[in-house]
Amino acid sequence: MTRELDDPTTGLLHLLNAAFRLLQEEQPLTQRVHRLFGLLRIATRYRDGRLTCWLQAARPGAPRQQIFSPESWAYPWDDSLTRSVALGGKTVVKTIALGSTGQSLEGLPVIAAGYLGAPIFWGGKLWGVLELRSNDQRHFGGRIGELIESLKPLLAAAIAQEGMRSPQLPTPRFAGETPPGLTLNPSLRQKIIALNEQLDRTINLHELAGIVLRRALEGSGAEAGAIALVDHDRRELVLHLCEGYVAERSGTALPKLPRQRWSWETGLAGQAVQMRRPLLVRDAGREPGLPPTMLFRAELAAPIIADDRVLAVLILHSHRANTFNEEVLAFIDALRERTARPLARALSYQTAYETSYHLGQVFSSLPIGLALLDLNGRVIRANPAWYQVWNMIEHLQRPSFYVGIDLVEHLLTRLNDPFRLSEFCDLGQHNPDQVLETTLQLRQPYQELHVLSVPTRDSQQQLTGRLWVVSDRTRERESDRIKNEFIGIVSHELRTPLTSILGYTEILLNRQDLDSESQREFLMTVSTEAERLYKLVKDLLDVSRLEAGVVKLNRYAVGLWQVIEELTMQLHTQLVNHKLLIDVRTPLPPVFADYDKVKQIIFNLLSNAIKYSPEGSEIQLSVRQATADDLPTNHPPGQWMLIVVRDEGIGIAPEDQVKLFERFQRVDNSNTRQKSGVGLGLYITRLLVELHGGRIWVQSVVGRGSSFSFTLPIYSANLDNTV
Ligand code: ADP
Repeated sequence: MTRELDDPTTGLLHLLNAAFRLLQEEQPLTQRVHRLFGLLRIATRYRDGRLTCWLQAARPGAPRQQIFSPESWAYPWDDSLTRSVALGGKTVVKTIALGSTGQSLEGLPVIAAGYLGAPIFWGGKLWGVLELRSNDQRHFGGRIGELIESLKPLLAAAIAQEGMRSPQLPTPRFAGETPPGLTLNPSLRQKIIALNEQLDRTINLHELAGIVLRRALEGSGAEAGAIALVDHDRRELVLHLCEGYVAERSGTALPKLPRQRWSWETGLAGQAVQMRRPLLVRDAGREPGLPPTMLFRAELAAPIIADDRVLAVLILHSHRANTFNEEVLAFIDALRERTARPLARALSYQTAYETSYHLGQVFSSLPIGLALLDLNGRVIRANPAWYQVWNMIEHLQRPSFYVGIDLVEHLLTRLNDPFRLSEFCDLGQHNPDQVLETTLQLRQPYQELHVLSVPTRDSQQQLTGRLWVVSDRTRERESDRIKNEFIGIVSHELRTPLTSILGYTEILLNRQDLDSESQREFLMTVSTEAERLYKLVKDLLDVSRLEAGVVKLNRYAVGLWQVIEELTMQLHTQLVNHKLLIDVRTPLPPVFADYDKVKQIIFNLLSNAIKYSPEGSEIQLSVRQATADDLPTNHPPGQWMLIVVRDEGIGIAPEDQVKLFERFQRVDNSNTRQKSGVGLGLYITRLLVELHGGRIWVQSVVGRGSSFSFTLPIYSANLDNTV
C-alpha cells in the first residue's frame, strides 16, 4: 500500500476505500476510529488525534463521547479550540502554542504545533469534531485536508449508527460529574445560592419539594416536572408533587395524581433510581424504543441521594428536544447535591409527623375512652370517647382536668360506691409503675364502666404518667341480662305447653271412661299447645336465619288485596270476638315484595292486635299510598304503600315503645304476662319490613290502643331490574 501511495491520487483513493470499508464494519465505534487513526498515519505525520462525537446528532455543549488516537501526546487538548471549530463550521489548520502558561504544565516546554480541526457536518447537523496535532503545521497541507473532507459523511454515518445501536435509551449521564470545561453560568450559580438559603429555612417536605421543583423548572427551562419519593420496600415511586402537566396531554407515562404510585421497573425515573444516577432522553423523536404515548420530547430523571440511599427522583420534561444541555445538567447536579441533606431531614421529620398524625387519628376515633395523664393525675390528652363514656361532653374544651379531683367530683352523685374511684386514683399515684384496674357502677342512667390504668414512659424509659382505658360494659351486662331473661321465658314457654300436652295425652291414654266430648276437648288443648310450641320454634328459627342474613326475598309485583283476603280467612277463628274493619283506598298499586313475607308481617301485627285488645273491640287494617306527611323523618325516599294495623287495646307506654322492635322485648305488665309469647314477633316483623327497604313504627296511648304502621315499596319496572 505504501508503494501505491507514492502516486498521490491512487494512494488517496486506496486510503478512502479502506476507510470506507472500515467505517462500515460492525465493530464498536471506538475500535473503528482507532483503526482510522492508523490509516490517517499513512497519509500524514501527526502526533495525536481525537474525535469528539455527539451520538445523538447534537450541537456543541451536549454530552459527547471522545475517542483518542492510540498514540497520545503529553500536552492536553484545548476544549475551547474544539468548540470554536464546531461553531465555525469549517476545517481549520493552524499553528498553536502548546504548554503555554494557561495550561501550566510543569516540565513541558512551550512549543509551536500544527493543528487540524475538522467539524463533521452532515445533513445540516453537527456529528463531531476530528482533530489532529503535529509538530509542524505543514503536515496538514494538501492531501490530508482533502481526505478528511471526503471522510466526513462516512464518519457522520458511523457516529449516527453508533448512536442508534448503543443502549442510549436512556442516555446515561456521567453521575455527578461536571463536563470538562463547563462551569455554571452566573445566573444559574445565583439560583443555587438562593436555593441554599431557602432550603435551610424549611423542614416541611411539601414546601421543600415545591422549592426544589420550582427552581429546577426555572433553571432548566423544562415545561413540566415532578418529584417522586422512593418506596424501597415496595420498589415503587410515589408522586409527591408535579407541575405543568396538562391532564389530557400528559399521556400514560406521566404523573397525574399526588400519591400515585408506579413500579420502579417502568419509566426513566425508575431506571434512574435503580441505577442511582441521572438519566436523560435528549430527544424522544430519535429514540426508537420509547412508547408512542410520550408526548414530551426530552426527559430528565435525576435521583436525589443522601447517605447512600435514593430518597427521591426529580423528573423534568420538555417539549423541545435538547433542552437539557450540559449547562442544565450541571445545574441539576448541583441542585440535587444541595437538596439531598435538607430532603433527608424533611423526610424523617415527615415520617415522624405522619406517624404521630396517624396515631392521633386512631386515638381520636377509638370508641373506647382513652386519656393520657401526667404524674399528678392531670389529663394531658383525651379522646372524645373518654368524655362520652363519663357523660361529660361539656368538659371537652376544659384546659386542665384532674381525674382524682374533677372526675370524682363530677361523678359523685352517680357513683354507687364513691370511695372506689378516689381510692383507685390514690392507688395509681402511690404506685406509678403498676397496672391497675377497676369496675365502677353508676346510676341514672345505669352504667358499668371498666377502667384499666397503665403506666406510661418516655423514650428514656422514665415514667411520665398513666394511660386510662375506659370501656363501657353496660351493653354487655344488658345483653347478659336479656339472655338470662330469655332463657327463663323460653324455658317457661316450652315447659308450659309440653306439660299440658303430656298431661292430657296421659289422661287420654289411661282413662277409658272419658266421653267423646271430653276426649275432643282434651285433644283440642293438645293441638293448641302443640301449635304454640311450633310457633315458638319457628320464631326462633326465623330469628337466627334473619340475623345470619340467609333469608332471601322472592320479590315480584304483589297485590295487597289478595294477601288481605287470605289472611282474614286464616285468622277467621281468632277474630270471632273482634270487629275487623278493612279500609283499602284506591288506587291500590301492587307492592314489590315477597308474598309470603308480607303475609307474615300483617299476620304478626293482626295477631298482636287480637292478643292485646279486649273482646268486642275494633281492629282496623288500612292500606293506602303513603304521602310525605305519613312517613317518619328518616324514611328512605321513593313511592311507598302504607299499611296500618290499629287496635283499641291496652296500649304501650312511651318508654316501652322504643325497645319494642328489639329481640326478646316484652312489655312487663300483668296483661302481657298472661299472654304467651317471648317477644320475638315484632323483632321478626321489623327485620322483614327492613329487608324490603321499608320501615315500621308504632303510635300508642296506654289504655286507648296502638297503631302499628309499616311501608312497602310500590312496584315499578325499575325496581324489578335492580334485583
Ligand atoms: P310477643 O307478643 O310474642 O310477646 P312481640 O314481639 O310480638 O312478642 O311483641 C312484643 C311486646 O310488645 C309484647 O309482649 C307486648 O307487650 C307488646 N305489644 C305488641 N303488640 C301490641 C299491641 N298491639 N298492643 C299492646 N302491646 C303490644
